[in-house]
Amino acid sequence: MKKRVYIGLGSNCGLKQENLAVARNKITELEGTRIVKSSSLYLTAPWGRTEQEDFINQVIEIKTALEPLALLQGLQEIEIKMGRQRQEKWGPRIIDLDILLFGDEVLDFPELKVPHPLMRQRLFVLVPLQEVNAELIFPDDGAKIKEVLISVLAREGNKKIKRV
Ligand code: AMP
Repeated sequence: MKKRVYIGLGSNCGLKQENLAVARNKITELEGTRIVKSSSLYLTAPWGRTEQEDFINQVIEIKTALEPLALLQGLQEIEIKMGRQRQEKWGPRIIDLDILLFGDEVLDFPELKVPHPLMRQRLFVLVPLQEVNAELIFPDDGAKIKEVLISVLAREGNKKIKRV
């Protein structure tokens, strides 16, 4: 059975919007996979290392027949084909593809943690995710996306993210 999966996309090098479009296209070429919904694009301040260029971020909802690790592998192949260098943590990147949620599964493989461990702290994930599915509930603790988003906004404000 196909699963509903949310993927976070980001780029802060070169033609950023074009990079996201290329990545979306390649995602639809993965076996048994289609895009159901796409959020707006958001311009966001870099996270972790702040001296680099702003990012363009987006969240998409897909339906996929792939198993979680096969999907991760497919996404990593797209990143590599698009020229992503993997060495620099939180450094500039042509494309970054993260699995945010995979159906209602909670996964703890060495190479794949779902829900994505940092997604609850990141406005550039929560804002577009809420745009795609405002009723979303986290499968691990039952938190509602709206409430998680409200608490991060209360802490950080929304100065660092702007709809394109
Ligand atoms: P990043 O540099 O942010 O793209 O992180 C990539 C690394 O995170 C890879 O080695 C993945 O195996 C690992 N990883 C763990 N959980 C996830 C996830 N939910 N989605 C994508 N990558 C993940």
